[in-house]
Amino acid sequence: MVSTLAQKVWADHLVYQGKDGAPDLLYIDLMLMHEVTSPQAFEGLRLAGRKPRHTDLLIATEDHNTPTFNIDKPNPDKVSAKQLSTLERNCREFGVRLHPLGDADQGIVHAFAPNLGLTQPGMTIVCGDSHTSTHGAFGALAFGIGTSEVEHVMATQTLSLKPFKTMAVNVDGKLPRGVTAKDIILAIIAKIGIGGGQGHVIEYRGEAIRSLSMDARMTICNMSIEAGARAGMIAPDQTTFDYLKGRPHAPTGEMWEKAVAYWKTLKTDDDATFDKEVTINAADLAPYVTWGTNPGQGSPITADVPDPAGIADAEQRRSVESALDYMGLKPGTPLKSIPVDTVFIGSCTNGRIEDLRAAASVMKGHHKAKSIHRVLVVPASSRARLQAEKEGLDKVFKDFGAEWRNAGCSMCLGMNPDKLVPGERSISTSNRNFEGRQGKGGRTHLSSPLVAAATAIRGTISSPADL
Ligand code: SF4
Repeated sequence: MVSTLAQKVWADHLVYQGKDGAPDLLYIDLMLMHEVTSPQAFEGLRLAGRKPRHTDLLIATEDHNTPTFNIDKPNPDKVSAKQLSTLERNCREFGVRLHPLGDADQGIVHAFAPNLGLTQPGMTIVCGDSHTSTHGAFGALAFGIGTSEVEHVMATQTLSLKPFKTMAVNVDGKLPRGVTAKDIILAIIAKIGIGGGQGHVIEYRGEAIRSLSMDARMTICNMSIEAGARAGMIAPDQTTFDYLKGRPHAPTGEMWEKAVAYWKTLKTDDDATFDKEVTINAADLAPYVTWGTNPGQGSPITADVPDPAGIADAEQRRSVESALDYMGLKPGTPLKSIPVDTVFIGSCTNGRIEDLRAAASVMKGHHKAKSIHRVLVVPASSRARLQAEKEGLDKVFKDFGAEWRNAGCSMCLGMNPDKLVPGERSISTSNRNFEGRQGKGGRTHLSSPLVAAATAIRGTISSPADL
């Protein structure tokens, strides 16, 4: 039977096929955990007197509540400190491996696992976190689950699920210079909308996708959830194998050869069909930036803030009006004329070593604009931080006037000390620009690291081409 990549991975993990519309039972190869969505699951197991089925297939890190500076000092935020100490206690009690703050392998849950080679093609990977879709960049079927499902996976290493629908997004042709993975995914979401992938696993295909590095592929799959998709996937290829080879958890010797032979089978069959298909011409893409309060409200950086008066659909018009009101923007304003206060480079979308290199390549030899209040550069993982320091990128950032921080979610969400204040405007390489996402009343423009870095130099939204 011909199948898509997602259907192949699903079939390889089927424990029981549900009859008459009942869900299937799927084996889960790896569950990632962090401090926010795990406490209730641990407590559920404790109350039921159960133990995890496979502690070796569970692994935890600390990321959302961690401070990104003064990490050697007591955490002044009592709620965050409690979240972190609860995770540490739970992991000790249940025998779950944890990479805590200060550990060389600590980092955002979607960054530390690929670093370690834990994320591999053909796996089923879950986490109580929606951006688990990131791991689909390796050809894994990876998706976020709810707290009760986290408990179910801990107890049984399986999950009861109805098959997802399939969707192909083809990005054909070569990318223009200066267009990055973040621009591709912002353009895709602007085109299909924040509900465009609902209920589907999106498989990203085409020449432009194949040309991307693993870090860039993770950026694309990371934001699948922002289009409403359950997961995003990219078929593994030589780029994937080269990234994985030699990582601590990657297979070695004969097992490596066997693994690669299997991984090479993980692609959509030529005559398989998808439930939905969208095609984008890479040559039409440009650096993108959001102007609204969801990731689909974005435009090429050369565009103006849209005028809701020109939108025929009443619901859409109201949504744009309300977004512009929250963002404090007037229709017709050139995006490039919008001044920002804060620049945030980091998150599980764009805090990897290649993102840091990209930002440093723009910032080198410059200083942040006087009007910019602060520039935070926050690696997604401690490994990325160590690598950046080895390459001297930390010095580039500090000379630029940026703050060089420890790894964590930081200003991606207002759950740790890195927050916007009401009315403060940021350009951010993270994935969500919802109202209050980076702090109550904060205004967020999403962009790539290149655009964020150029904006930090000029003070208004800019791309490196404007320098
Ligand atoms: S960086 Fe942001 S999106 Fe990613 S895991 Fe942390 S809070 Fe979630």
